[in-house]
Amino acid sequence: MVFSENSGGRGGKTLTIKTYSEVWDLDVFFKGGSASPELREHLDELKLELDTFENSLSAFEVPQSEADAEKIVSIIEGTKQVAESLSQAGAVVGCYLAQDTTDKQAKLLQGEIGSLGARFSSSMLIVQQQLSKIEDNVWSTLSNNSHLKEFAYVLSEWRDEAKELLSEKEEDMITALGVDGYHGWGQMYDLLIGEIKVRVTVDGEEKEFSVGQASNLSSHADAKVRKESYEALEQAWTDKEEFFAKTLNHMAGFRLAVYNKRGWDSVLKEPLQMNRMKQETLDAMWGAISAHKAPFVDYLKRKSELVGADAMHWYDLDAPVTESTQKVSYQEGAEFILQHFGKFGPELEEFSRQAFEDEWIEAEDRPNKRPGGFCTGMPLSQQSRIFMTYSGTMSNVATLAHELGHAFHSYALRPVHWMNRQYAMGVAETASTFAEMIVADAAVKEAKTADEKLALLEDKIQRSVAFFMNIHARFLFETRFYEERKKGIVPATRLNSLMEEAQREAFGDGLGDVHPHFWASKLHFYITEVPFYNFPYTFGYLFSLSIYAKAIEEGNSFEEKYISLLRDTAIMSVENLAMKHLGEDITQHAFWEKGIALCVKDVEEFLELTSSKG
Ligand SMILES: [Zn+2]
Repeated sequence: MVFSENSGGRGGKTLTIKTYSEVWDLDVFFKGGSASPELREHLDELKLELDTFENSLSAFEVPQSEADAEKIVSIIEGTKQVAESLSQAGAVVGCYLAQDTTDKQAKLLQGEIGSLGARFSSSMLIVQQQLSKIEDNVWSTLSNNSHLKEFAYVLSEWRDEAKELLSEKEEDMITALGVDGYHGWGQMYDLLIGEIKVRVTVDGEEKEFSVGQASNLSSHADAKVRKESYEALEQAWTDKEEFFAKTLNHMAGFRLAVYNKRGWDSVLKEPLQMNRMKQETLDAMWGAISAHKAPFVDYLKRKSELVGADAMHWYDLDAPVTESTQKVSYQEGAEFILQHFGKFGPELEEFSRQAFEDEWIEAEDRPNKRPGGFCTGMPLSQQSRIFMTYSGTMSNVATLAHELGHAFHSYALRPVHWMNRQYAMGVAETASTFAEMIVADAAVKEAKTADEKLALLEDKIQRSVAFFMNIHARFLFETRFYEERKKGIVPATRLNSLMEEAQREAFGDGLGDVHPHFWASKLHFYITEVPFYNFPYTFGYLFSLSIYAKAIEEGNSFEEKYISLLRDTAIMSVENLAMKHLGEDITQHAFWEKGIALCVKDVEEFLELTSSKG
């Protein structure tokens, strides 16, 4: 097993200290990394499974009566088998690439799995379309059938979605044209970004930076570096703005043309549907946020004073307000997490301890790893893997807790059939934010120095500013841009002013210099797989905060309820989920205000702690 034990005698007592590995175990799935013969065998088998599934579909006729229930069940089981094999392979290869970005064999495998995935998606569309052709009265008996009842929500959702699509032939054509059209424009963005290099003077030396590297300078301690890197980037966006504007306009134009052909008026229809969310819920959320901007504007003002600026400029948003020097070893970080998870509930603690012991986590700081963190599920093995680079900050500890939260969500869903485990982006961040909150809150409370406390508190407030202001600006920009795009091409200059307006509004007029080319700098506007890659973040954050508030209220006994909520995340609308498990109506402002109130408390504490420094 996974941990080494160092035992030593001290003062007569024997202490056993477990040292958790910082490197994950992937061999347990397929031995030998990307060259694994076992993995090769798995992929060859997967191809056969997919062939069989496709063949079974060509014989799948539209069900006519309850007697056909068994046929649907067998399609569901076929779907599950292929989907699980496919995601296991995809997840493992994703891990190979993350741990070593130079792994060429893994890249090849990724391409191979990608085309298998595309074949599977086409098959799923056929299933969806066949189901949508079932007569309503036949469906109402079928969906109550004892073998199908369990899947009724998801299958009905598939039927409803398919009914709003065009004919099979037309949808097929859209998919085919999208490869070189819609998705092509999305990929064009990556190419444009990759080309850009800027020069910034850091520590007296002018150096060349990629966009990603230069963006990281936004949290540099030296105000001159922050401003210079921002200006260099803003200049680069200005130089290339016509290219970015063209890319964004064509991508959006493609999406709108498809919506138009399908007869969809609202550009929010698809993203809301994907998130199983009502428009009223989204409106209530933004409405509550808009009504409570004032404390965050006060925070921005105080922060600008702390960093010695005349107003809160965009380039100072990430500036550190204090020097946080506390270092936490991986071992200490793990123990801190387990200790505080344990205060919330025994199952979360036990599960996480197992994850540490069984080497589910890749945290070592070494070259060639990709940046960032993620958690990925291995459905065939009922395990998860967590990826990050741990360098010893409290923020790393919070990230680790966040990813463990994702893994716990998968754990909670273990008893659930694959069909009922496919949760949407909005609720995807529930368990992760929740786990992160437990640790971030505890860290503030247990901070050893005033400076440390301030740094940790600011870390928390930064999250609120990101979700309530920055993401709000993206949402406002994107909705307004798409409305204007319906009427024709939106030129770069107009995109700049739309963005400036959105930022001024979303930050409650709390900003000095804004970031007009933000629409060019942010990848999220160019993601073609998920439209409106913004509001689900804010939803997940606030939804999770209100669960957190309930957990504090109810103490240790809340865990059971929490797990049953997680278990239901993929089989009902978010409105029903909140009503069933929290007794809350999330189409009302009052629900959202509870979460916001928690964030306002952080701001109040911050203002108090810094009142003499301002
Ligand atoms: Zn996450």
